[in-house]
Amino acid sequence: MSFDTLGLDGRILQALAEEGYTTPTPIQAQSIPAILAGRDLLGIAQTGTGKTAAFGLPLLHRLAQGGARPPRGGCRALILSPTRELASQIADSLKAYGRHLGLSVAVVFGGVGYGPQRSALARGIDILVATPGRLQDHLDQGTARLDRVEALVLDEADQMLDKGFWAAIRRILPVLPKQRQTLFFSATMPAEVAKLAHEILRDPVRVEV
Ligand code: AMP
Repeated sequence: MSFDTLGLDGRILQALAEEGYTTPTPIQAQSIPAILAGRDLLGIAQTGTGKTAAFGLPLLHRLAQGGARPPRGGCRALILSPTRELASQIADSLKAYGRHLGLSVAVVFGGVGYGPQRSALARGIDILVATPGRLQDHLDQGTARLDRVEALVLDEADQMLDKGFWAAIRRILPVLPKQRQTLFFSATMPAEVAKLAHEILRDPVRVEV
């Protein structure tokens, strides 16, 4: 199987060829068509399975096709991640896969100054990758708005629970539009994680690898 049959934008296929990707991994083959079709998705997968591209490629495709301008102070797609390292990796991967699309990608995480993050948010961002604690700080300070989010990704939900981000996530979710696409990834499904998935996903496609 090749990436060409999945329905992705030609500019994304070009970037994948440049990255040396020839064959979708199992989670990519199962997730990409469902996400392109606008479905919510529950992905039970570890890091190393190619899950970043599994959600990232169709997300980039949909944002490029949709063509809305990023809202000042906010973003069109929000990816929540448990650590700054993972958030940075996700952003770097999305920049690489989307290099021919002209979409903006920014990261927001704790332990660094607020100024550059405020400026990036103020301009408006297509894809924001954030750790929940710092994003909640921006919401509390009025320097981020999430009312125009078209797609939400929770990556490594079990890790976000372990790292104590549940309260922040619970604060962030209500300010997102109800009408959106939601993609939920976790390596394990403890009861609390399963409960949140059930609450926020609408008729999800379930993919387990
Ligand atoms: P992830 O599970 O998203 O952290 O990805 C694991 C590693 O696999 C990363 O280094 C990716 O660059 C790489 N990767 C993801 N998908 C593919 C693919 N279809 N072909 C080759 N490498 C890939």
